[in-house]
Amino acid sequence: MIYADLHIHIGQSLDGKAVKITASKSLTLPNILEVARDIKGLNLIGIVDAHSLGVRQDFKTLLASGRLRSLAEGGYASGSLTIIPGHEIELSIGDGNAHFLAYFPSLEHVEKYVQELRTTTKNWQLSTQKGHVSIDRWIEAVYKAEGIWFPAHAFTPHKGIYGNCCRRLSDVLSILPQALEIGLSADRAMAQSINELKSVVLFSNSDAHSLPNIAREYNSLTGVNSSFGGLRDILRENTKKAVRNYGLPPKVGKYHRTYCLSCERIVTASPPQLSCPACGSQHVVMGVLDRLISIADNEIEDCDPSGYVYQVPLQRLPGIGPKMYQRLLKCFGTEMAILHNVPEEDLLPIAGEKVTYWILQARGNALTFLSGGGGVFGRVVDILSPKEE
Ligand SMILES: [Zn+2]
Ligand SMILES: [Zn+2]
Repeated sequence: MIYADLHIHIGQSLDGKAVKITASKSLTLPNILEVARDIKGLNLIGIVDAHSLGVRQDFKTLLASGRLRSLAEGGYASGSLTIIPGHEIELSIGDGNAHFLAYFPSLEHVEKYVQELRTTTKNWQLSTQKGHVSIDRWIEAVYKAEGIWFPAHAFTPHKGIYGNCCRRLSDVLSILPQALEIGLSADRAMAQSINELKSVVLFSNSDAHSLPNIAREYNSLTGVNSSFGGLRDILRENTKKAVRNYGLPPKVGKYHRTYCLSCERIVTASPPQLSCPACGSQHVVMGVLDRLISIADNEIEDCDPSGYVYQVPLQRLPGIGPKMYQRLLKCFGTEMAILHNVPEEDLLPIAGEKVTYWILQARGNALTFLSGGGGVFGRVVDILSPKEE
């Protein structure tokens, strides 16, 4: 089993220059490798700022010191972890702007891609800059450098292709993507309410802007090796059954329902609500659910647990404060080991009854959640401590 988070940003490069200005400064390439491998227990990560001059230099520094080694099938290894260099770009498409992700077998391929698009973006140090290039020409540049691509956080009102550019990908793209990133406020069932996505591979990634947020959503991949080639094979062969998503339940996401900027309230009337039902204002942050229902071909069915497991990060489970978190890591290694593998009888003496209960509930897809809203994430309902609610 490979645990993969394909969307991680870099806050700054080791020369001290900012890469993603809104991300934490501690989000450097060496820190990401350490946290993803030793604390989270991931096996495959995508660094989406590998286009950055400073970040490319950091890759080279780690390669020269032996902390990274090239893999024959593409990507770089650091112990049990594989790193795939990639790029998130903003492009104009349809009615708006959307983010897209590309991944490449090696730094040389990234450099070829950057060279091809050199004049279309002003700043090659910073993250997720606007590319002044058509989507068709961008895709051509990705393929020329032997890369793969798919739309990022596709349903979010902020720079998601379905969120603010189009109702159908086929209206704005001449080639349909082989994969798509769902984003935090939607799940697989919501995505599959659009017919054209029924045969597309769906990923859930963290879009981490800080170290603790790495793996807040992730995927398990089976039947492929942990390399760029393995990821490409999933897309090419369309083995969507090989991908299972682990993510926040949509209603916990902070953009799940429409939010009226005039009333400063989340709408509660049944979806879709594309304007404010209370004051009639069009001045709203569109909810992912509201937008999706307004464009879907089908009703949203219940999410199939064989494809999508509702899960929160370990530290957001009731009873896991900083001390307990450190104790669990010390005894069992990584978050992935604790969430997925450590047997109940081993958890009990270290974690105690309550925390063991919550870990097993998370494993069994049996958590109940309280909705988020107004930019605040929801949380797990703590039925063991009813006074708290
Ligand atoms: Zn983005
Ligand atoms: Zn991003």
